[in-house]
Amino acid sequence: MKKKWLIGNWKMHGNLASNKALVGGILAAVPSLHEQVSIAVCPPFPYLYQLAELTRDTYLGFGAQNVSDHLQGAYTGETSPLMVKELGGSYAIIGHSERRQYQGENDGLMGRKALAAIDAGLIPVICVGETAEERDSGRTHEVLARQLDAAFGYIRTAHDKIILAYEPRWAIGTGIAATPEIVQSEHEFLRQRIAIRDKAFAAKLPIVYGGSVKSSNAASIFSMPDVDGGLIGSAALNAQEFVTIYGEL
Ligand code: PGA
Repeated sequence: MKKKWLIGNWKMHGNLASNKALVGGILAAVPSLHEQVSIAVCPPFPYLYQLAELTRDTYLGFGAQNVSDHLQGAYTGETSPLMVKELGGSYAIIGHSERRQYQGENDGLMGRKALAAIDAGLIPVICVGETAEERDSGRTHEVLARQLDAAFGYIRTAHDKIILAYEPRWAIGTGIAATPEIVQSEHEFLRQRIAIRDKAFAAKLPIVYGGSVKSSNAASIFSMPDVDGGLIGSAALNAQEFVTIYGEL
């Protein structure tokens, strides 16, 4: 069986008490690691240390929702990927559409952040995805190609620890996930686009899907051949939902 990934993106939710309850709920429901599935959650920055404590000696990994494109220096308000790594984090979500939308992050910055995350020893979870308007006007592939090429302009395919996330913006937080057929077709497009650079790398690159995944639609999405897991938003805030989704991988 090919390895799979399940990553929870908590966004700007949680507090010390609710984080503890959520992690406790996940750990209680999934007492041992399924060898072929890596599972992790990404809390807001102030809670990374708490997550390091809560997940110590467990199978549950953690990561950040964003990192700086620099490793150190005079960058007020930024967080180095080295700091996330020092706490024991494994992942950094890069270029999430909410950061593109509200924080003005662009393709170039996303590429530099992905590279900084790799340099710090984190696995970047690089997000790409089109808006509803881009899809409706038939520009989905143009947009995905642009975002992908920008990220991979900085990263060498020799780095084997990278995850790509297809997250159509119209499916994020809307309750309406992309159909399994759309997910498969876009994942296939992304894999083919990467294969132009490096065929072997493309074949093993994990591509996860994100956008309104829940326990009721996870099985059909995960059954698609080019889907290697999920990046889960709101359903990751409920231990039972998150663990049920895990069970569908
Ligand atoms: P959602 O968010 O599952 O709430 O749609 C997914 C994401 O933003 O990664």
